[in-house]
Amino acid sequence: MVTLLEGNTPLLPAPRLAEATDPSLAIFLKCEGFNPTGSFKDRGMTMAMSKAVEAGSRAVICASTGNTSASAAAFAARAGLRAFVMVPRGSVALGKLSQAAIHGAKVLVVDGNFDQALDIVRRIAETHPVTLVNSVNPFRIEGQKTGAFEVVDQLGRAPDYHLIPVGNAGNITAYWRGYREYHRDGKMGSLPRMVGFQAAGAAPIYENRVIEEPRTVATAIKIGNPASWGPALEAVKDSRGWVDIVTDEEILRAYRMLAREEGIFMEPASAATVAGLVKIVKAGRIEPGSTLVLTLTGHGLKDPDTALESATRPTSVPASLDAVLAQLGL
Ligand SMILES: *Cc1c(COP(=O)(O)O)cnc(C)c1O
Repeated sequence: MVTLLEGNTPLLPAPRLAEATDPSLAIFLKCEGFNPTGSFKDRGMTMAMSKAVEAGSRAVICASTGNTSASAAAFAARAGLRAFVMVPRGSVALGKLSQAAIHGAKVLVVDGNFDQALDIVRRIAETHPVTLVNSVNPFRIEGQKTGAFEVVDQLGRAPDYHLIPVGNAGNITAYWRGYREYHRDGKMGSLPRMVGFQAAGAAPIYENRVIEEPRTVATAIKIGNPASWGPALEAVKDSRGWVDIVTDEEILRAYRMLAREEGIFMEPASAATVAGLVKIVKAGRIEPGSTLVLTLTGHGLKDPDTALESATRPTSVPASLDAVLAQLGL
């Protein structure tokens, strides 16, 4: 088993978020940014990499909006495998790129978008001795469904709603599978409604069409043709949930709110879930008194540029007591 001891992430109550939306709600944050490489991708990668080793593979390949490449690079290092990763130019946060690089992956920056990069690596994996570790690899989904198991273990029941950002749509698929399996095994009495959020400029499932040039500040969900489109639709339909959209402005507002009011620094794609919460509560779509779990998919340190652009800039001062006091306004 190739592992970095991923999983077992905290399920944090979010009382300020409830106060700001509807105080009758019990809101919990599944903080997946606290995984070893800083995103939920590690849950799937331990499985994909272990199975690659079992099959005698010597190398892995993926296309990535960043976090898959960071995770693949780390687990490949752990396993002693080579990693090839392809990322779209200008669409990958600095922290993620630095992770792939330091773990020794061969990083190719493509002049194109994620969907084009995924198409290329899929074709390479069909014809060359490398294992594809994108979420089209079925072992990725199997690993990621442990997120749902943990939520039920931690909460002692299923939530009424599970809110989650949707990019390539593997994770919403995985959570729903996890919930269904736990339910079948008698570990929970009811099933949650799955609610997925796409960025308004990258909303193929919501708009029911491929988006040729997806646009959003939330680079981890900047995807125009999700690989798990069908299973994601099934998840929302079977669970009586839905897919909604949030604008970049709403995402960035939620991003700052989460950091300032709950002390949780998550990347913009994760904040899409919080933005979605604000939107659907305001729209009256959530039954008062409900229990909600929000998957916060990746850590805020992944994307320092967006954080600095979204907050008040640091102020420079001379090294004198008076100058510092003048700035503090105490
Ligand atoms: C991968 C990722 C997503 C999207 O997950 P999918 O399984 O592709 O839908 C969302 N947020 C972060 C931080 C991610 O790394």
